[in-house]
Amino acid sequence: MTKITIGVYKSFRNSGIRNHRKKTKKHWCHYFLDVDDDESGDYQFGSEWVSSFKALILKRKVWKKKKFICLECNTIFETYVPKNTDEIECSECE
Ligand SMILES: [Zn+2]
Repeated sequence: MTKITIGVYKSFRNSGIRNHRKKTKKHWCHYFLDVDDDESGDYQFGSEWVSSFKALILKRKVWKKKKFICLECNTIFETYVPKNTDEIECSECE
């Protein structure tokens, strides 16, 4: 299993439960895709609570959903890629 970070956000740990106290602490939540390492490439969404320190590290490697167009076969595809990725190999042609 490979975890691909798609977001790190601050949120209330007990969302859903009404909390009237003003000083509710927010915690970091790490959202990721859990990708199968076999050829199927299946993935599931997941989330976990992380420390603020780990959140800082994770934030640096958040993947973004980006659209690519292959000029060879005109296929448009959307996929998660690391930040600042401008090119990706087309899965259609090789
Ligand atoms: Zn292509």
